[in-house]
Amino acid sequence: MDFEIAEEHRMLKDLVARFVADQLMPLEAGVLAGEAAGKGLGIDEADRIRIDKVSKELGLWGLDAPEDIGGADLPNVALIGVNEELAKTVTPYTLPPDSPNLRMLMATVNERQRVAYLEPYVRGEAVSAIAISEPGAGGDPAGMTTHADRDGDDWVINGRKIWISRAADADFTILMAITDKEKRARGGISAFLIDKGAPGFNVLRAIPMVGGAVTYEIAIEDCRVEGWKLLGTEGNGFAPMQLRLGTRRIQMAAWSVGMAQRALDMMVEYAPQRVTFGQPLSERGAIQWWIADAATKIHATRLMAYDCAWKLDQGRDVRLEMSMIKAFAVEMAYEVVDHAMQLFGAMGMTRELPLQQMAAKLRVMRIYEGPTEVHKWVVARTLLGGRR
Ligand SMILES: Cc1cc2nc3c(=O)[nH]c(=O)nc-3n(C[C@H](O)[C@H](O)[C@H](O)COP(=O)(O)OP(=O)(O)OC[C@H]3O[C@@H](n4cnc5c(N)ncnc54)[C@H](O)[C@@H]3O)c2cc1C
Repeated sequence: MDFEIAEEHRMLKDLVARFVADQLMPLEAGVLAGEAAGKGLGIDEADRIRIDKVSKELGLWGLDAPEDIGGADLPNVALIGVNEELAKTVTPYTLPPDSPNLRMLMATVNERQRVAYLEPYVRGEAVSAIAISEPGAGGDPAGMTTHADRDGDDWVINGRKIWISRAADADFTILMAITDKEKRARGGISAFLIDKGAPGFNVLRAIPMVGGAVTYEIAIEDCRVEGWKLLGTEGNGFAPMQLRLGTRRIQMAAWSVGMAQRALDMMVEYAPQRVTFGQPLSERGAIQWWIADAATKIHATRLMAYDCAWKLDQGRDVRLEMSMIKAFAVEMAYEVVDHAMQLFGAMGMTRELPLQQMAAKLRVMRIYEGPTEVHKWVVARTLLGGRR
């Protein structure tokens, strides 16, 4: 058994670490000041264009996209280090295209969809969203009621979606709908490609979320979709959707490692400097335990993330590992960041340090892509099987 990260993947991780240090970290104080002033968490358009240019020149676009459309076709295991490094700063930046929707598209597109949707997406020319959650069905997407009915060659979709990230700006949304009410998750849910501004795809409101994110509520009213925009085959949208969720869950585990590592690095730097009651904080047992526990849990989580990604790359069934890692990683990082905030005292309560933004990000990560309790329930249900 070889636990060494492959040389080319380590070099990629180092490259992204330098990119983060040179391009994103210098903007962080300004990003935090803007957020504290009520302008939201973001970077200027000019900065984004400049950073996009640099990341493209460095070959960091389309890392896991197919080679024949300009990607590097890297496995999941290569992206752990990339996402870990990107998460070390709260300067918001995503290397185009966002992997989870990419993986779902790669698994499903036909030739026409590939040209119209996948290729512009890989080139960074199109933004996408995914609409699964509904007012009555979130953690349990099989309970969705949005339905698509055939009308000649077209489909007509009706229903309601909520908590959808990027829905107002996305060039296209992958929308999940019931196409067979009897079969539901077992062959009755399909995925559709909905273009921005499609008649009947009505964005009702923007919902400000904890941590500065925004999601949207959408009413889908007699939204007519041409037959060729059915993604994959009819009734078989659930499996690629799970692949998409799985890709995001591994990514979230890597983000969690990155955020926790940054918080740990800050603790290690600050604890010896701050003297209380005649001794540096680094001499206190309580603080040493936070540091030791953080280092241990980060190490364990990183190994779990690599293990899960490697197994996924081998085509193995990782549903159990995926639920374990998503719940464990996010909760681990939430605790480490909370300890770091505590260590910094009042300074940890300011909006000048990145810690509070990380805490807010992790707070919502405990909910999206499946709440912690749902993942633990999945693990327990799998292990207990019929013994319950
Ligand atoms: C910032 C953010 C962005 C999002 N973006 C998107 C998006 O782009 N597209 C999209 O489709 N959705 C998106 N979502 C929705 C997200 O996926 C759902 O909120 C999530 O799946 C939980 O669903 P719910 O809110 O309906 O909670 P529910 O399913 O109602 O669960 C509520 C709580 O009940 C408990 N619970 C539920 N089931 C169980 C169980 N079996 N065992 C034990 N406890 C349980 C958990 O504590 C859970 O937190 C986003 C959410 C957030 C917060």
